[in-house]
Amino acid sequence: MSKPAREGVRPAFSQVVADAAQAMSIRYNNLVYELKRQGVHVTVLSLGEAFFDIPLLPMDDLPYPHIYHYTHSRGIPELREKICAYYQRHFGVPIDPEREIIVTAGSKAAIHFSMMCVLDPGDEVIIHEPTWVSYPEQVKLCYAKPVLMPYTCTVRDYERYLTDRSKLIVINNPHNPRGEVMTRRDLQYLVELARAHGLYVLADEAYSDFLVDEEFHSLGAIDPEKSNVIICNSISKNFGISGWRLGYAITNPELTDQILKVNQHIITCPASILQYYMAAHFDEIIRITYPQIAEVVRKRREVADFMDELGLRYLPGAATFYFFVCIAPTRLTSEEFCTRLLMEEHISVVPGVGYGQSCDAFVRVSVGTESLADIKAALVKLQELIVKTS
Ligand code: PMP
Repeated sequence: MSKPAREGVRPAFSQVVADAAQAMSIRYNNLVYELKRQGVHVTVLSLGEAFFDIPLLPMDDLPYPHIYHYTHSRGIPELREKICAYYQRHFGVPIDPEREIIVTAGSKAAIHFSMMCVLDPGDEVIIHEPTWVSYPEQVKLCYAKPVLMPYTCTVRDYERYLTDRSKLIVINNPHNPRGEVMTRRDLQYLVELARAHGLYVLADEAYSDFLVDEEFHSLGAIDPEKSNVIICNSISKNFGISGWRLGYAITNPELTDQILKVNQHIITCPASILQYYMAAHFDEIIRITYPQIAEVVRKRREVADFMDELGLRYLPGAATFYFFVCIAPTRLTSEEFCTRLLMEEHISVVPGVGYGQSCDAFVRVSVGTESLADIKAALVKLQELIVKTS
């Protein structure tokens, strides 16, 4: 039977996409852009990046005319080799650049494409709150089901959330917005759990270098065969180059071949000129950004001391440039709180509810882009708003 005529009726949108939420952090940052356009000065504690001084390095030697054309869908070999050498050198993870890595358009794409390759409709993905804003929506875009563990849970609670539909656990290590780093023991526990129950663990390691006194353990060092693990990372945070949209997924050769197909069909390859530039200047950019990363993490420590003096509470952690700050005595929801802070005091932070239903008594504060003096002044105002609305 042919489809009945419905002239003039706009086709319905996909229910799955229509039901997906906008990323809370991006929604608030868009409000900031609008206020700034009106000439309002905003203290921005909502951005998910740290700004570094990185010069524009020479481009004349990049291979012309290859920079204009498609590249290998795994990413150019030179860049894959650089990334693999960096993971081996920094985190002791052995990676075969030919078979165990895919370069794609940012870690967002790396995470989503990996999910597409392990999830069937209805499969469950366990995520610990506060969850980075995109994981649950990316799971839903795979027609799968995010299962969220409240923020009060620990690693040992994952087991309680397993069902026969569980397929994947997603962790963010170091953690946005907690600032926490997972211990080797906890990572080992997760890999054993994954092996025992036939799951994958996906570790988003986007902030792998944002530590000063602590040690970072990559999930890849716990399962060097990568039989049950996927590692995603990018140049957005560690290299301070978020706008270039280069990220990668590392896993076993068989799963890498699956992700390769998704990369081929959706983006073909990441932007050629950016891959060649990164391959040429990889080590130089690390040399430039590392001291600046250390400076940001030290700034975070000073901000932590200041919050302790003020009596502001936050979830424990010392890595990254984020805090998940408790606004508990306030009567306001975290969205109402953030909207008032933005409209009345021109300070932008992100509502905790964007990181999970258990997190409405929190806001995310990023110290990546403003000066210590401006961050301190903003925190005083944030504290005043908590008191005023309690
Ligand atoms: N994971 C986490 C935890 C992040 O905070 C972000 C960026 N805010 C990303 C992934 C996405 O990074 P990319 O720019 O590589 O897509």
